[in-house]
Amino acid sequence: MNQFSYKPVYIEEGKKVLEVNLLPGKYCTFNCIFCPVSRSLPHEKTDVVHDFGDVTSALADLQKRLEVIKPDLVFINCLGEAFVHPDLQKVIDTIHACHVPVRLLSNGYLYGDARCAALAQQCEEVIGELKMANDAAFQKAQRPLAGYSVDQHVANMAAFRRSYTGIFRLEITLVKGYSDDAASLDFFARAVRALQPQVLQVVTPEAPFDRVLGVDAATLAEADRRLQAELAQ
Ligand code: SF4
Repeated sequence: MNQFSYKPVYIEEGKKVLEVNLLPGKYCTFNCIFCPVSRSLPHEKTDVVHDFGDVTSALADLQKRLEVIKPDLVFINCLGEAFVHPDLQKVIDTIHACHVPVRLLSNGYLYGDARCAALAQQCEEVIGELKMANDAAFQKAQRPLAGYSVDQHVANMAAFRRSYTGIFRLEITLVKGYSDDAASLDFFARAVRALQPQVLQVVTPEAPFDRVLGVDAATLAEADRRLQAELAQ
């Protein structure tokens, strides 16, 4: 049985991208109120490696797709945290054996964990995310595992970033009523200076959450201008 799922191959900036999900349901360190992963899927809030069964056939299928599609990049974009999959190392090795670079999506919290950082270090591109700028908003809107804090989230990514030699992509999400105020912008600016991502994307929640939680285009553009300017300093 193939436990991995794929999006249709697409072109991004001239590159052919194969996007793969390794997880059978949503397993994430957070449970965001604006999570785009379907609420009809089982959701487990966790940072623990799970047993998802034998992946021999799934890895063989991945290898076959790599040989047939010949992508320029594989994007590991899971229904939650890829780090809870016990065979992430084998997935990375299978992709690299075909000489294809890997982009890994994480919300970034587990980059502070040595095992997870060692896996992420092997990927040519990694994504980290910031959506909240104070603990009250973090707890209310992202509902993380107990003991998690927004300062630790940034510290985890910053520690990883110091030794990571690949392309670090930071995605900051402005959420109306939660992280679109002046103090949040100041916090995000400090985080951008600390993390120095090679690629910075400033976004707001998409449909169906945009009506209530999305900021308007002018606010987003102004925040983007300010935060991109932090990179130039
Ligand atoms: S971090 Fe991402 S995958 Fe996890 S709950 Fe939040 S939006 Fe969903």
